[in-house]
Amino acid sequence: MTLDKRGLFLLLQGDSWGVVISCPPDDELRVRKFAAAVEGAVSAVRAKHADVEAKTKICPDCAETIRAAAHVCRYCGYRYEA
Ligand SMILES: [Zn+2]
Repeated sequence: MTLDKRGLFLLLQGDSWGVVISCPPDDELRVRKFAAAVEGAVSAVRAKHADVEAKTKICPDCAETIRAAAHVCRYCGYRYEA
């Protein structure tokens, strides 16, 4: 997150996205609060995403993402050895 001192733009960036928020200079506090809220939401989403990734595996047959605990691929029927 960066706040341009000349004023008016706030840039939020993720791995594959970015958003620019413009604001009046006298509203810096409000924008900072908003940015903090957005960043909090982004890290919550990231944490959840990482959690989901940790519980999945890639099927060797069809390359779909399936649950780590699965014994059978729900896409192609590939069977994992027990
Ligand atoms: Zn499969």
